[in-house]
Amino acid sequence: MMATPLRQLLPATDVLRQPASHASPTGVAPIVQLHPTRRCNLACAHCYTSSGPQVAETLPLPLMQGALDDAAALGYGQLALSGGEPLLYEALPLLLRQARRLGMLTSVTSNGLLLTPARWEPLAPWLSRLAISVDGRAASHDRLRGQPGALDKTLNKLALPRASGTPFGFIFTLTQYNIDELEDVVQLAAEAGADSVQVHPLTLHGRATQTLADARPDAMELLAALIEAQRLAIALSASHGVQVHVDALSQRQLRAYRERLVPAWPAEPPGPTLSTLAPVLVLQADGQVLPLTHELPRSLWLGSLHEQGLLALAARWLAGPAPAGLVQACADTWAALTSSEQPAAYWYDEVAALAQRIEAPRPQPLRLVPRPAAAPFGSAHAGAQNWSAPR
Ligand code: SF4
Repeated sequence: MMATPLRQLLPATDVLRQPASHASPTGVAPIVQLHPTRRCNLACAHCYTSSGPQVAETLPLPLMQGALDDAAALGYGQLALSGGEPLLYEALPLLLRQARRLGMLTSVTSNGLLLTPARWEPLAPWLSRLAISVDGRAASHDRLRGQPGALDKTLNKLALPRASGTPFGFIFTLTQYNIDELEDVVQLAAEAGADSVQVHPLTLHGRATQTLADARPDAMELLAALIEAQRLAIALSASHGVQVHVDALSQRQLRAYRERLVPAWPAEPPGPTLSTLAPVLVLQADGQVLPLTHELPRSLWLGSLHEQGLLALAARWLAGPAPAGLVQACADTWAALTSSEQPAAYWYDEVAALAQRIEAPRPQPLRLVPRPAAAPFGSAHAGAQNWSAPR
């Protein structure tokens, strides 16, 4: 499964503040997050897509191939594949090859347990980046994954991407209780040859609502993660070569980057495009297409690939009330957060929560709060380089 990284929304200057050797190769190209299947070899406690061995839901290959062609035509320059466990999807190399031939960068997020030469070799040539889920020290990781020895097994599988020279990083699910394990995860990443650790906040969706209802990190925990990432950057990165990024924005970043977080509305001629309003586009295994994040209310979704191709869904969506509703949700979220004392936030989660509250799109014209004066880009790690798909 995947959640939504923030990197697509941050200015290149934040990315470029990273050492050049660790700057993402992707720029800030809009990203398609594709879930080919919800089938998985695990049934993790925090899985927000409720994937597992008994889940068969899979998106037909022709629908995904058509959607990839359309996504490239709509301006999406990255494909992030997750699931379920994408290594269980046999046509994975076909999708990756198609995306690369369309000029897209590609990433796969995996629990790593199923990495074998037979699975790895057909997809490695088409893979820009691999993301491996590592959720803490062995005891915590194995408990969350529901499998004793899972972390050791995963780490042992990383010889394959190491040998092929494919860049890979870890994704760490931040809860209310595990920030103290981040340093060990960064150390593990360094030992394994990973070049980054992406800290992604737990969202309460799917199985997590039942198993981890009290574990979603609050604003103070997000701030602690931002501070810890900065501390680790100073203490470890120079010597270990591992970049640590947090999918959260500080209050200062929220204020500085409004133009990145709230799409311009009304859009400049020739009008709004899907990729500017939704720099992240989620294609679920059931065929539903969602802007930004899986937690938005249905009134903002594009519809199903089982009914229409992506180009047609995009045209229908752009002609309807949903774009205005989405922009309004972003604008209201930004106004609420920046007028609060909240020190940090996971942006997409906040937008989704507010959109759920207001439920239906509002009619035009919009009354957006005025833009603040341009602020200098700041430091921090939030969101930079996070273009893989957390799970
Ligand atoms: S979190 Fe990832 S590995 Fe775990 S059940 Fe969900 S899809 Fe599978």
